[in-house]
Amino acid sequence: MVKKSIVIAMAMAMFAQGSYAFDLGGMINAGSDAVKAVAMSDAEVKNVASLAKQESDKLNKVATPKDQFGVRLKKITKGMKTDSGLNLDIKVYLVKDVNAFAMADGTVRVFAGLMKVMTDDEIRYVIGHEIGHVSLGHSKKALQTVYAASAVRKGAASSGNGVASALSQSALGDLTEKLVHAQFSQSQESDADMYALKFIKTNGYDPKAAVSALRKLEKMYGNDKSMFSSHPAPGDRAEALEKEI
Ligand SMILES: [Zn+2]
Repeated sequence: MVKKSIVIAMAMAMFAQGSYAFDLGGMINAGSDAVKAVAMSDAEVKNVASLAKQESDKLNKVATPKDQFGVRLKKITKGMKTDSGLNLDIKVYLVKDVNAFAMADGTVRVFAGLMKVMTDDEIRYVIGHEIGHVSLGHSKKALQTVYAASAVRKGAASSGNGVASALSQSALGDLTEKLVHAQFSQSQESDADMYALKFIKTNGYDPKAAVSALRKLEKMYGNDKSMFSSHPAPGDRAEALEKEI
């Protein structure tokens, strides 16, 4: 069991290194219909998301509230206004990658590597973008798509008594990895950016930070979208936001 966890953790680290912008993985394209999403109740979606959250939190070191990154995140999110009904759980992973992701239950994980290169307001834009994926239903759709093809679902179906009791560790690891690295479509990314802009304005943050965050990514990784063809290049996203501001 321990060995398996290490293998999964290594695989996650490798994939994360290949990514060049937040919530971007390329393992699967959650926006595509290649794998058909399965209908799930909101309770089922939350159940699966929270299992994947627990698994991911086991595989990555979570910053404690006393850690410098934990302290900074608390400062960044203090008094942050979000959509009502959204049960946010924002934490930092102490990993080097410049990344962040959200899950359908309101889980947001910001990577220390991203916090190192971004200002507080730039991180707020990233958080707003991630919340956008949750609030706009992208994360739910991604989860439904991943879950449809997952061994976790097959196990749950064959046991006949629900998701939680039927999990095998490797199936859960696989599901978690695909959720963490779900790739959204170009239009979902643009919508999440526009959501982030609204979120920034509601909270009285600096909208220019959204542009500068993307410009930083562009500088680090180039305005290249060939890596994941469905993903808009950071420079293009910065320009779209600049127009909106
Ligand atoms: Zn995104």
